[in-house]
Amino acid sequence: MKVAKFGGTSLASAEQIMKVCDIVAADPQRRLVVVSAPGKRYKEDIKVTDLLISLAEKYMEDNSAQKELAAVVDRYRDIARGLDLEEDIVETIADDLRQRLDAWSGNKGKFMDSLKAAGEDNTAKLVAVYLSSKGYNASYINPKDAGMILSDEFGNARVLPESYDRLKQLAEREGIMIFPGFFGYSASGDVVTFPRGGSDITGSILAAAVNAEVYENFTDVDSVYAANPNVIENPKAIPVFTYREMRELSYAGFSVLHEETLEPVYRKGIPVNIKNTNNPKAPGTLIVASRKSEGPVVGIASDKGFCSVYISKYMMNREIGFGRKVLQILEDEGIPYEHIPSGIDNISVILREKVFNSDAQARVLKRIREELAVDDVAVHRNKALVMVVGEGMTHTVGIAVRATGALAKAGINIEMINQGSSEVSMMFGIDAEDNVKAVKALYAEFFEE
Ligand code: ASP
Repeated sequence: MKVAKFGGTSLASAEQIMKVCDIVAADPQRRLVVVSAPGKRYKEDIKVTDLLISLAEKYMEDNSAQKELAAVVDRYRDIARGLDLEEDIVETIADDLRQRLDAWSGNKGKFMDSLKAAGEDNTAKLVAVYLSSKGYNASYINPKDAGMILSDEFGNARVLPESYDRLKQLAEREGIMIFPGFFGYSASGDVVTFPRGGSDITGSILAAAVNAEVYENFTDVDSVYAANPNVIENPKAIPVFTYREMRELSYAGFSVLHEETLEPVYRKGIPVNIKNTNNPKAPGTLIVASRKSEGPVVGIASDKGFCSVYISKYMMNREIGFGRKVLQILEDEGIPYEHIPSGIDNISVILREKVFNSDAQARVLKRIREELAVDDVAVHRNKALVMVVGEGMTHTVGIAVRATGALAKAGINIEMINQGSSEVSMMFGIDAEDNVKAVKALYAEFFEE
């Protein structure tokens, strides 16, 4: 069987949902269908998940949020009417939302996740009703009954290993199953969501659990491109990536797949096919374990929002346990780190700025100074990481010189180079304001004649 996941733009309106149903009906192997919440219909539109977040915030503040509730219900009503469904389904959705609001108990994380999950959950119910109204044997699957058990981290959950064995049983069921993306349940029974954009992760977990032939991820582009189309005009379409390449590219800002998507399918070697709901005949982009060389570089990605903690101490290399102590301080603060480029007497720890606010910075720097007796410690903010990605690239002579040469010609100062440990990418730390310029320079170097 195939697992087919549809993103927010594929469910944004009645017209889009009709396309989804045509795609599902066109292939009897598409039996496990994962849906996101309705996304944007046009550029300035608001995603249902964002409407739900506003609803939850307003309700927590004022214990009432009529306008915000109506905004969500209206989106579903529009869709239901466009699909010629009875008003009942809209009433069911409105009741479901009211029940979630009534359950407010003062636990912000729990309340927010319950509301955020309502987008996917009600969309799955609606799509199942629509497919049934068209005569298909389709049913809504409740993630709790199916066994989607996640860690107890509101808004940032991860799948627990025992889920796979339970979800595997979905393969035995008859008919088309409509599974809501983005959330599951904690062992204690609370709704918990993945990070934003996490319906991709749901699809990948299900594909691995049922050992799908392919995980089809339907979105609104014909292909994945070698660079962000908002930065590069008409970038080159890439027909095949490896898991490792895609992992690196989505880490550094390729938004076509959530960064955590590939782990479950990668472990089972299940191919991922990214396809376009608006043009399902196009072959899309495949992500597989290995591919014939397309040339050393397949993509240029970059992401802002990084900072570095630079630490120096004379004779650091002789001090056993120095690195561990630095990382222990971060662990005590619950701060994940991204990279640790180091020299003989210095080490930089690269962090995402969003996990390192000024309070955390003050605490960490104080401890580093006091406990590690360093010569210098400083934080540099507003950094970007630019990545040149391609399988086997680091074995090709001359790539580094071309990349650094292109950045130098564009007048961009490279503050960090990280190449050693990954065979698939070369990473440059630069000032965030040079971000776009860097992608353009590297794209021109590797992809333009
Ligand atoms: N609806 C959720 C979001 O907007 C999850 C998803 O679409 O994947 O983040």
